[in-house]
Amino acid sequence: MGRKTTHKFKAEINQLLDILVHSLYTNKEIFLRELVSNASDALDKYRFLTQSGQVEADETPLEIRVTTDSDAGTVTVTDTGIGMTRDEVMKNIGTIAHSGTAEITRLAQEGKESLDALIGRFGVGFYSAYMVADEVTVTTRSADPEAKPVEWTSDGRNDYKLRELDEDLPRGTTVTLKLKEDLASQFANDAHLEAVVKKHSNFISHPVFVGDTRVNTVPALWREPKFQIKPEQYKEFYTFLTHDDADPLETIHVSVDAPVQYNALLFIPPKDDDMFGFSQDNRGLDLYVRRVLIQHQNKDLLPEYLAFAKGVVDTEDLPLNISRETLQDNVLIRKISSNLVKQVYTALEKMADDKEKYAKFWKEHGKLFRAGYMDFIHKDRFVELLRFNSSDCEDAEGLVSLAEYAARLKEGQKEIYYAYGPSREALSLSPHLEIFRKKNVEVLYLYEPIDEFVMDAIREYGDYKLVAAEHADLSNIEGGEENTDKPEELAEEQKATLDSLLERIKEVLGDAVTEVRVTTRLSDSPACLANPDGAMTSSMDKVMRSIHKDTSIPTKVMEINPDHPLTRNLIDIFETDQNDPFVEQAARQLYESALLLEGYLDDPHALVGRIQSLLTQASGWYKGAK
Ligand code: ADP
Repeated sequence: MGRKTTHKFKAEINQLLDILVHSLYTNKEIFLRELVSNASDALDKYRFLTQSGQVEADETPLEIRVTTDSDAGTVTVTDTGIGMTRDEVMKNIGTIAHSGTAEITRLAQEGKESLDALIGRFGVGFYSAYMVADEVTVTTRSADPEAKPVEWTSDGRNDYKLRELDEDLPRGTTVTLKLKEDLASQFANDAHLEAVVKKHSNFISHPVFVGDTRVNTVPALWREPKFQIKPEQYKEFYTFLTHDDADPLETIHVSVDAPVQYNALLFIPPKDDDMFGFSQDNRGLDLYVRRVLIQHQNKDLLPEYLAFAKGVVDTEDLPLNISRETLQDNVLIRKISSNLVKQVYTALEKMADDKEKYAKFWKEHGKLFRAGYMDFIHKDRFVELLRFNSSDCEDAEGLVSLAEYAARLKEGQKEIYYAYGPSREALSLSPHLEIFRKKNVEVLYLYEPIDEFVMDAIREYGDYKLVAAEHADLSNIEGGEENTDKPEELAEEQKATLDSLLERIKEVLGDAVTEVRVTTRLSDSPACLANPDGAMTSSMDKVMRSIHKDTSIPTKVMEINPDHPLTRNLIDIFETDQNDPFVEQAARQLYESALLLEGYLDDPHALVGRIQSLLTQASGWYKGAK
């Protein structure tokens, strides 16, 4: 018999084990789901080796057996899969921490996500055995004919022992759990384990036996005719695939014969599972060829922006021994993908008829979906599925489509307007949108940087250009003129004074602004900063600056509202004394206030100092006037 060696667990695994061993988590039965799923993966890997001719198949049936011994208090899960060599055991169990192991430990400690969901999502299933067992023994023999059988054993506290066995075990892996004393009667029980396998592992595509009974019965739901499938079966399969107990938001089941044969069963989950971007790795569909799993999480069947869809694709048309490396360039896969994308679009279009449901979809998956602006082939359908919050909505939850916007354009309006801002509140107070509010012209509100790229890529909807509100010219659109408190028109000489006042302001601000001019967009504010004509929108400018780590203040056009009482007062003051220091103070104050609104003012000291001295003056006058 080989020498027994002792090895320390990696620190992250130790922490994880500590949580699992002491877990009060009640749904402990999921350990069996995880072990059966590992066994099934091992069988898939073995079958793949034989089908691609790398290993010669033998007579041993591909199956999973669960047995119990109530006297000894043990549960055993045996598979005839690929097995592991000594090196593989060391690499796979105990040494290499999954990239998410530290994260799962933290999340489990926070207690926000159930342990079950975390174990499933992060792929650390083997260790869940320690929720129910004091000791776990793994004996395994690799499909590699040269390899010797190995025994791994550990009580899950610090280290594990490893030794090579001399006897000739059959190919595959046996995991034996010595159950914790208080759990032995519950789990060393065939009837109970049968129920557990039925509940969690019914769709495993290899036979699963508990004792002598074959338990799993429905391996390929996606191949069944739609009308024969009950909603509960879809739900059950969805839960099997995703470990999500909620109902899927949408089920897409298609059977296609031309131009390429395939069956697909996809689900849109009710929640986006992309916590901290981790699920990037979890994306992709399971690819089957004639009911045999060829690739888990294939990423070529659906583009990234449709990756919210989870499920399986099964085709008759690929050879079983196709190599995974060549799948990406496979013409058939591309044909299936191009058809599948259309099916997903059709499903989304149907879903969009149900506004409430589509709003849920949009809230959870809209951000990912919007990355589809790069898919030019499906642009026309993509555009119809976009939703926006807008100035016409009652609150930040409201959504409009471009079609709805286009159907209620104002008389004379030939463009669709949008503005980017941090929140609905900020946008509904933004001076840039005053003219839109006055003329009652709807503006689409964008809250995420990606929206601006979307708008840039789409450019137009039907006959209408998409135009950033800050670049818009609303002079052709009626309305807003019947302003009762609009001041009198400026007299000719006042106009001339205004012109020199603008020149004076430019002189004060120097190179901080490119130009000082009269505005067309303000009604309630005295001044704002605008981008020079033809430049990109200020929000895009901000995105670019953050990419280039440029922290300088951009040079903009300062626009002055000639009808604002402050401007009128300044005209009078300036007329009396061109060098009145108040004019200079006001110019700087207006500029910095505008910078502050645009989010560019880093140092507020000068601004606050100026406000205080103006307040001091004003209060003096006010006191005198009283
Ligand atoms: P995951 O299965 O998500 O990778 P686990 O912690 O459950 O994570 O398993 C770790 C690794 O151990 C697996 O990736 C696999 O390589 C190996 N393994 C586990 N169980 C078996 C088994 N029954 N047969 C062969 N290899 C196995």
